[in-house]
Amino acid sequence: MPTPKQMEKLAAEAARRPGPSAAAPDAPLPAEYWESVLKDPRASATVAQARQRRLSDIQRHVLRISCRRCERTVEIQTADAVRLYGANAVWKDVAQRLLDNTCQQRTGRHEEDGCWPAFETP
Ligand SMILES: [Zn+2]
Repeated sequence: MPTPKQMEKLAAEAARRPGPSAAAPDAPLPAEYWESVLKDPRASATVAQARQRRLSDIQRHVLRISCRRCERTVEIQTADAVRLYGANAVWKDVAQRLLDNTCQQRTGRHEEDGCWPAFETP
């Protein structure tokens, strides 16, 4: 059984490998991303809830999101996030935008482009 750290590495390696994608043209993230999330042993209802949470519901002072592909971590003060995106913004959308603003994975191909946020349990 691989450790969560090894799983993370395998997922990152799989993400770097080019391959056919089943992503719908209008899907914000490829199907492989959701598969990797669902296969993640840490995936749970708590993680799903964390993604759906609105900024106004988050009690923490600092929000942190990391990318499964380029392994960056972006931090933002909750107050700043509210100012930029509004208190009703959903955390998963904000997280995606934060990563996309600085993402290094720009291939120009829709199915490979962009960051894959790795949501942690709060
Ligand atoms: Zn990235």
